[in-house]
Amino acid sequence: MYTIKSTLGKGQGLFAAQKIQAGVRILGDEVLFSITNSTINEGIGERISVSLGNLPPEQQQQFETLHCPDHPTWTPLVSRYLANCFEMKPPGSGIFLKAARVNHSCCPNAFFSWNSNLQCVTIHAMVDISAGDEITVSYIFPFFSLEIRQAVFRERYAFECDCPACNLETLTGQSGEHRRMRMDKLCLGVDKRNGGPSNNDEKELRMALDFIELAVDEHLDGEFLSCMYRRARECYEDKGLGDLALRYAEMELETVKRLLGGDHPVTIESARALEELKGRLAVVQQRERDGEKMDAS
Ligand SMILES: [Zn+2]
Repeated sequence: MYTIKSTLGKGQGLFAAQKIQAGVRILGDEVLFSITNSTINEGIGERISVSLGNLPPEQQQQFETLHCPDHPTWTPLVSRYLANCFEMKPPGSGIFLKAARVNHSCCPNAFFSWNSNLQCVTIHAMVDISAGDEITVSYIFPFFSLEIRQAVFRERYAFECDCPACNLETLTGQSGEHRRMRMDKLCLGVDKRNGGPSNNDEKELRMALDFIELAVDEHLDGEFLSCMYRRARECYEDKGLGDLALRYAEMELETVKRLLGGDHPVTIESARALEELKGRLAVVQQRERDGEKMDAS
């Protein structure tokens, strides 16, 4: 489905060997080694060294083949690890040899996630990808402003992103930056974990809907978007607007199924939430029908 080739200035990269449809799992990759705490502090070098040292020599050599940015303060071991690791169960992270070859774009066409059911990192096509196109993921929340993105790229990955969103000399880059800065602000105002009603649902619903509109306009997709669909679904249900709650629950499920796969815990949870919502709405409709019958008699 893909080939690994050298790219200009970015080490190796993954390229589609054929057309890949949105939602297809491009790869599922098992961990080479991991650390349970990837907080960047004095002890991180020691933690990486101990975990790497437990591997047989040939696997240690595989790690050595990964891209190692020239970072001003970190040792090559830490620099190579941080540039290539993927988040597992936070704060843990690990090295996945195939996934580590996937380069970053702030306008990605694929999505990576840790699937605890499969114990592997998966990468799914976010949109249809043409044969020959590079497969890219966003290493960070892509709706951060350019200033924040560039700081993270410099600090963590020691690279400059040259994607269309990072070029503010073009109209695309400028309008995209404007949308992303608004999304960043809106994201802070929406409670993405709270399953219950909020004290200010009307305002929060408006923010979630604005975020969704901006993300769609900017062609940005990700688990963060499914969180907004979920919050909109919860707010609509609180307001007694069942049809709208159902529509957003379906969009939430479509998003996580496409980006994470049907076997991901988040997708399983979204599917369960949709079925439960349908059950609650059916009860409400039955009550309404019973009420109409009583009124008529
Ligand atoms: Zn970029």
